[in-house]
Amino acid sequence: MSTMQVDIVTPDRKVFSEQAEMVVARTTEGAIGILPNHTPLAAMLKISAVRVKMDDSEVTAAISGGFMEVKPDSVTILAEAAEFPEEIDVERAQSAKERAEKRLRDKQEEIDFRRAELALNRALNRLNVAGKK
Ligand code: ATP
Repeated sequence: MSTMQVDIVTPDRKVFSEQAEMVVARTTEGAIGILPNHTPLAAMLKISAVRVKMDDSEVTAAISGGFMEVKPDSVTILAEAAEFPEEIDVERAQSAKERAEKRLRDKQEEIDFRRAELALNRALNRLNVAGKK
């Protein structure tokens, strides 16, 4: 099967860089599966799991939002944060989830409510991806 270069980059590090057969991601417009020779595309990514399928393996990463650029021979994901299942500190994500849930329960200014919602989404996404170890 043909392949494309897939890179996942955060402000801190290059998380992933390999030839792959398919990328499945959730953009703000909906879920999308990218195969080699896809038409050029730029999309915002949701806080979500990104799946990359290679010849004989597959990886999943928790992405904390970001941007995806697709070219016929490459997919580049620039994420605010990205972790593989084995990198996720489950206790930390659980604490972040509880903190955010408490903030959402307490009466909040609109801006803090939105921030807590995003923090909750990041924590739930990490717990979901950590379950895919
Ligand atoms: P917390 O409140 O626990 O810091 P957060 O969602 O606010 O969570 P981010 O701002 O998204 O954290 O990430 C900051 C850095 O910490 C990033 O490098 C991210 O990869 C890392 N990180 C955050 N939570 C976890 C976790 N549960 N396990 C591993 N790395 C994490």
